[in-house]
Parts: sequence; structure tokens; C-alpha cells
Amino acid sequence: MGLSGLEIYKLLPKTNCKKCGFPTCLAFAMQLAAKKVSLDKCPDVAEEAKKALDSAAQPPIKLITIGQGEDKLEIGNETVLFRHEEKFYHPTGIGFLLEDTQSQEEIKKALGDIKKLDFERVGQRIKVNIIALSAKSADASKFTQALKTILENTSLPILLMSDDPGIVGKALEISRDRVPLIYRATNANFKEMAKLSKDNKVPLVASAKTLEELESLVKNLNNEGVADLILDIGDKDITEKIWEFTQIRKLALKKAFRAFGYPIIVFTKGNDPYQEVIEATTYVSKYAGLVIMKSKDPWAILPVLTARQNIYTDPQKPLQVEAKVYEIGKVEEKSPVLVTTNFSLTYYTVEAEVEASKVPAFIVSCDAEGMSVLTAWAADKFTGESIAKTLEKFDVKAKVNHKNVVIPGYVAVLSAKLEEESGWKVTVGPREASGIQSFLRKL
Ligand code: SF4
Repeated sequence: MGLSGLEIYKLLPKTNCKKCGFPTCLAFAMQLAAKKVSLDKCPDVAEEAKKALDSAAQPPIKLITIGQGEDKLEIGNETVLFRHEEKFYHPTGIGFLLEDTQSQEEIKKALGDIKKLDFERVGQRIKVNIIALSAKSADASKFTQALKTILENTSLPILLMSDDPGIVGKALEISRDRVPLIYRATNANFKEMAKLSKDNKVPLVASAKTLEELESLVKNLNNEGVADLILDIGDKDITEKIWEFTQIRKLALKKAFRAFGYPIIVFTKGNDPYQEVIEATTYVSKYAGLVIMKSKDPWAILPVLTARQNIYTDPQKPLQVEAKVYEIGKVEEKSPVLVTTNFSLTYYTVEAEVEASKVPAFIVSCDAEGMSVLTAWAADKFTGESIAKTLEKFDVKAKVNHKNVVIPGYVAVLSAKLEEESGWKVTVGPREASGIQSFLRKL
């Protein structure tokens, strides 16, 4: 169990010097107990107290880094069971399984396909993260040959998969600089795998069939000096996996159970790509740090990446675009002016429809604290007055030779107030963004 705020407070200097950025030692202690700050923010804490505070200062789920450079993947360091309690921090890594029995050409083609799984959505780049290579051949030279092809053709992090420490050792000789994740330590090989992990400074997957066996394996690996671990509960029924993932997360967060304080890896089971999308999305929600999939079709991967993007945004801070006037296409003085809110999803949906209409237009994104149109209207953040102020603030009248503004159909009720406040003539646009193209063409 972690220490309570008061228990931590007793170990702090109690001078209220504020060097940690908090007004009192007690305030800092409370944040430390909630694992929202690290102990090193207090420069005056005594050595003996540091040791006692160690467990309180450690994150309940360790942050694990795979790979290096721009494409490195960081997973773990989560602090809550449910997203609405705070937020989830490190998005689940999504990867793909390749086998060393595939030909060089097949591997290169697969890598080319994977490279294309890189999308832009609501102003953010969403992409896949890791390539898993399985030693299906059980032959070290075949495995390293396939690995060479991967190293030469992608900068994504790599997962090396073999139960044979000899094969993994050979592979690490040519890949250790890329900091791959090695899979996997079991009860049968943990000493050799632990040595490989320590000698090469790479993270290791601990794999067992039951939670009890996993606990004992993690403790053995910790005793061997391995601190960077990822947990694997093996191949079992999906419901059972979700139940066990939930137990692991709960025990790590609520009971400070150190043996389970690591991210989880999971492999999708099904061969049906539709089922696989559902399965992968479920794992992203509860509580996988790394999901290795088979399908590489963009239509199958985009929904998983979209779900991940949504789950890993801060629920208290909606994704926002800058509130300003956006020029879409080659705008002229006669171009129409549309207003919407600064919620990213709303803005980018409107922008895409305006672009597709081929009618150059101004989109005025109003600061509605990142809320969608109806939510902002209901919260009094998107009103006749606020839209009028935004038109004035950005001097929209200087950009056009008319005073006509188009508002979303859902807030037609604002028309009179907006006309009164701004002096602009209001046209009510379509309710749904899908109606924008035909609406603009008819203007
Ligand atoms: Fe207390 Fe340390 Fe913060 Fe100073 S820096 S207020 S001693 S916790």
C-alpha cells in the first residue's frame, strides 16, 4: 500500500518553504500521495525520509520505453482506473505481427503497408507504433535475416519474439541500439532472459498463464535485477483476459501491488478482421499498453486508432483548435462567412465539408471552450453576443464586402440576437455538416 498524505507529511521537512511549488508541505504531501508529483520537487527532504517515501514517490504503473528517437514508444505511468477520474496518459501502442518464415519481399511489402497507416484526424497525427517479429522458424540465422530487413526498412520500435534466449541473444547483437522489447521470460527461461535484458538494457515481457504465476515470475525477474517489464497473461478467452487486465490495473493502482505495476501486452486472437477491430478496441479501453494485431488494412486500423485517440484525450480539456478566422481555398471579398465553435472535431468536420464543396469560404472558429455547437449553446458559450464579439474581435468585416454570416442549423434560435448584436444578416445553415457542400454550392 502507498502512504497516505498525512503519513508522507510527517516525513517532510515541514518548513513550508514553497520551493516545491506548493504553498505548504501538507499540500505537497497530498499531491505526492495522489502520485501527481514526484518527490524530487522538494530539494530539502532527508535521505532517510527519501527511502521511506520511495514507494509513495514511484508511479503505480512503471513507464516503459521501447525504441529510440522520434518513433520511440512510451507506455504505462497510468494513475487512474477510469478516464473521467483524471485522464489516461500514454496511449496504447498498436503493432503488427510479422514472421521470420515470410520472404524478404513479403516482409518489405508488409512494412510498406504499415508505413501507410499514418493518418491525420482532428488536427493530430495518429499512427501505428511497433513491429513484432516472431521466430516461427526457430532458426537464429533466419530470424536475424528477417530482423535485418526490418531494421533497414523502418524506424518503428521492434518486438523480438522467441522463447529461446539463444535466438533473442543473436538478434540483440544487431538490434540493441534500437532498444527493442524482448518477448518473453517464462518460468523456464527467466534467468537467461533477465541477463539478456540487463546486459543489453532492453525491456522484457514477463509471461505466465495465471496471475499467481505472473506475480512470482515478476518477483524473480526483479530479484535478477530487471526493472523494465511488460506483463503477458498468455492466450486465453477474451472475457477472461479483460477480467485479468482489470485485476492487474486495480491491484497496481488501488493496492500499490508492485508486481503488477507494469504495462500489459496482448495479441488479438480472431482471424475475422471485423472481430479483430472490436477486440483490439476493447483492449485499448481496458487496459492494454501494447496491442499486437494481424490486419493491416487501413479500414481496420483507423477505427482502432480513432478510439485510442478519443480515450487518451483529457476528458476535462476537449481538443480545441485556435479560435480565429480560417481561410479555406482561395477566398475573395465575396466569399461566404461561416461560424462554428472551436471544438476540434466540429471544426475539422466543417472544414472538410467546405473544402470538398470547392467553394472558398471563411470559417470563424469561436472560442466556446472546446465544446461542440449544441453543448456550447446549452452552456451559454455560443450565443448571439459571443458570436457578434468574435466577428468584431477578428475584424471579419474587413475581409469581405458583405455582412452575411452563416450559423449552424442547430442554433437557428440565435439568429435574431446575433443580427441585433452584430448588424450582420444571418443565414441559417444546415443542421449537419454533411449538408454544407450542397448548401454552399447553392448560395
Ligand atoms: Fe515543504 Fe519541501 Fe515543499 Fe519546502 S519544498 S514546502 S519543505 S515539501
